[in-house]
Amino acid sequence: MTKELELLGSYKLVLGLEVHVQLMTEQKMFCGCSADIWQAEPNTHVCPVCLGLPGALPVPNFEAIRKAQLFGLALNCTLNQNSRFDRKHYFYPDLPKGYQISQYKQPFCENGHLDLLSGNVADIERLHLEEDVAKSLHEGGKTLVDYNKSSIPLAEIVTAPTFKTLDDAVDYCKQLQNIARSLGISNADMEKGQMRLEANISLRTADMEARNELPKYKVEVKNINSFRFMEKAVLAEVVRQRELLEKGETPKQENRGYNEATGKTVLQRSKEEANDYRYFPEPDIPPMFFDEVYINELKSLLPELPQQMKDRLVRDFGLTKEVAHALVDLGGKDLAEKFEAIVKKGNEGRKVANTLLNKKETLEMTVDQVDEMLKKSSEVINDSAAISAAVEKAISANPKAVEDFKAGKQNAVQFLVGQVMRETQGKAAPDVTRGLIVAALEKKSAQQL
Ligand SMILES: [Zn+2]
Repeated sequence: MTKELELLGSYKLVLGLEVHVQLMTEQKMFCGCSADIWQAEPNTHVCPVCLGLPGALPVPNFEAIRKAQLFGLALNCTLNQNSRFDRKHYFYPDLPKGYQISQYKQPFCENGHLDLLSGNVADIERLHLEEDVAKSLHEGGKTLVDYNKSSIPLAEIVTAPTFKTLDDAVDYCKQLQNIARSLGISNADMEKGQMRLEANISLRTADMEARNELPKYKVEVKNINSFRFMEKAVLAEVVRQRELLEKGETPKQENRGYNEATGKTVLQRSKEEANDYRYFPEPDIPPMFFDEVYINELKSLLPELPQQMKDRLVRDFGLTKEVAHALVDLGGKDLAEKFEAIVKKGNEGRKVANTLLNKKETLEMTVDQVDEMLKKSSEVINDSAAISAAVEKAISANPKAVEDFKAGKQNAVQFLVGQVMRETQGKAAPDVTRGLIVAALEKKSAQQL
């Protein structure tokens, strides 16, 4: 159950997210400095470009662009053929140039979406690439600046005000994290700052929601660095904004930060409009053009994505959507791969999933150890006659699977194995079951010829 419902009273949540993901590249975004800065001595990965010295010229890192575009494709975005970098001006002690190279009118990717577990769809407006800023360290009353992080490539993914519940927002963020990991473009580790969130939060009445009307304000909560933190910040804002609205006031459009000690958000600054940033095209980097051949080649490089993997686990192993979600989105790529490896050893899918998700000790066990444990624990039915009955039942209840088999779809066999397993509570010996199903299907196909 999503946590904000009671706090909302009669209001509805309107939530949009801006997520920054640090891309894993060899070099920084606009210079040749090594981007491998984790735990490096301060100011050891710097050059005139990332220090923002006058006259230093940026050269875009093609590896970062390609990874950002792959990310966009995986989020079902359209890749823009014409794209360019822009300067976004603002004063920041960590930004010596006085502007950040980002993208404004022509980002690399636009108009994507992600399907959420709840059945809702997250509407993604854009994915653009920008450079990170340096890092201030406050020590003994002094502020020191470390430029190692300056110009590390960041993909920023911006959603519409698309989330109606906190659960949807958390699901979206976890999916984003898993997609980045599946693509090998980022570890998206929030503790290491490789993934950071900003949440745009406002409330509206049920009538406004029915009319699809957005509130006239939004509050941006900055620098959220964990899912737990996001939940707390959103809940705190829900309470604060509801109280203002109930007094007949409209919350101000502003940036706030979450204070963990007080459990409340605090004002940081009033919110800028886009025109405050004085965006203009970056004059030192020419506009870019990507042709169809390039875009198609990128598409062919996409690996199996978490959504596709979940669909496949549901289809081939008879898992429920929730179990597939728990394995792939919550457990991550490693757990999903472990699941498949154990199933390949002749174990029934749902049973393997159940074991991996409910028996914590299996997290530490190897594939072979879990396999052994499963085989020991199950009283396998090897008796052909007993299994045959279940096979006949599964085949007569699923004529479509028979058609699929005739059409050469091997998935049909796996599907029927799943049905027999359900019938026998996972006790039928998988090899025997498979053999009996194939024999029965072949017999049926021959009869109908
Ligand atoms: Zn540099």
